[in-house]
Amino acid sequence: MALQQRVKLFLGIISMNSIKKRKPTRMCLSCRQRAIKKTLVRLQQSENGILSYQGVGRSFYICHECINNEKKIKGLTKRFKQDKERFIKFLKELVKNG
Ligand SMILES: [Zn+2]
Repeated sequence: MALQQRVKLFLGIISMNSIKKRKPTRMCLSCRQRAIKKTLVRLQQSENGILSYQGVGRSFYICHECINNEKKIKGLTKRFKQDKERFIKFLKELVKNG
């Protein structure tokens, strides 16, 4: 540990937790549970409907649990005015392809 970090830790400016590398977490749009970014699917809403994240624009995350939960998906299709069958297929493909 760098001396500067040690001093800050001693003075209580930073906590041990902030020194230990924490895995980035994101919140699932549907269930609002936080999960490690890797385990979430990143999507974005566009004029043409829901897409996988294209690198620009507003994005959101859905966890795998919600993707496999028919009720949650139903809620999302309503929310984004998607065709249910198409949306489910799209999500399943995304999960399969990682
Ligand atoms: Zn979820």
